[in-house]
Amino acid sequence: MTSAAVRLTQIDGKLPNLALMKLAHWHKSRGDDVIFTKHIERDLYEPEYHRVYGSAIFSYSADRVALFKEQFPSAIIGGTWNLSTLTTVEEMIGQDEYEHYDYSIYPTFDASIGFTQRGCRLKCGFCVVQKKEGKPRSVNTIADIWRGGSYPKHLHLLDNDFFGQPEDQWRARLNEILDGGFKVCLNQGINIRLITEEAAQAIATVPYYDDSFKYRRLYTAWDNLRDEKIFMRGVERLNSAGVPPSHLMVYMLVGFDKSETWERLFYRFNKMVALGIRPYPMIFGDRGKTLPLGGVNAPIADRTLGEFQRWVIRKAYNFVPFESYDVNARGTLAPGQGNLFEVAA
Ligand code: SF4
Repeated sequence: MTSAAVRLTQIDGKLPNLALMKLAHWHKSRGDDVIFTKHIERDLYEPEYHRVYGSAIFSYSADRVALFKEQFPSAIIGGTWNLSTLTTVEEMIGQDEYEHYDYSIYPTFDASIGFTQRGCRLKCGFCVVQKKEGKPRSVNTIADIWRGGSYPKHLHLLDNDFFGQPEDQWRARLNEILDGGFKVCLNQGINIRLITEEAAQAIATVPYYDDSFKYRRLYTAWDNLRDEKIFMRGVERLNSAGVPPSHLMVYMLVGFDKSETWERLFYRFNKMVALGIRPYPMIFGDRGKTLPLGGVNAPIADRTLGEFQRWVIRKAYNFVPFESYDVNARGTLAPGQGNLFEVAA
């Protein structure tokens, strides 16, 4: 078997990319020469490759993906950036499950990262998880995910529906986290719409943290205004179980709902802020999109979703109204705000 030259390209995202880590492991196990890079443009001195891969997570990376394709026309591009891209790594390498990861392509990363489950109980229109992965199933224990040895007991679990796996399985994983003294970051978010009182009580006992493992944080989402009742029920359940709203970071999808107006968007935002929740807008599609005002009586008709996202992430709403916000001003990130937000869901 002759070795092949392989280029793995991370097109977006700050967290290590598990798909590329799998491909690195698989190709190296076959004796191939693997180069990992975040550069989408071909360097002058790069060799010709037998195989080029790219992975992108966010829909706003479409321009970068297009540029990458220009540079490497035969590249195989995966990831959640595009709803029509449903190919999995396993399909590419011809295996049913491949749970081996090459951490060496991220030499400064010392946490452990993986999935205890794949799939999701829901099927949201903007999301590929159910289409790609189907219904929830358990895939790894905590011992399978942790790298062991002297690595810190810090786990990034990328599960999209942790409590969607069978109850005996999620209880076993939570016990493994507790018994092993791990800190866990569930930064894809737990499914608050389907959270039961039992699940809320169980998650409240676990050391859940932000992705720096410094601040208590539990991630979830409120994507549609029509889910208000069910979302608030979940917030109440968590609060009663011991997870206060101030621990919640809530992804709010913007730019997807065709009936979205600034009024409807601000309704969700204001409800969360009033409770002490931290919203995090996730933009679907065009960051430069503007919205109809709805009933909002403020001069924000020309404001864009990208500007709104920046105003929220930087917590500028604490000191300046959106209409007066200077997007070029250097904002302040609150403690624990530095977040990787690797979600597509
Ligand atoms: S957005 Fe979240 S809840 Fe909806 S299908 Fe995707 S993973 Fe499931």
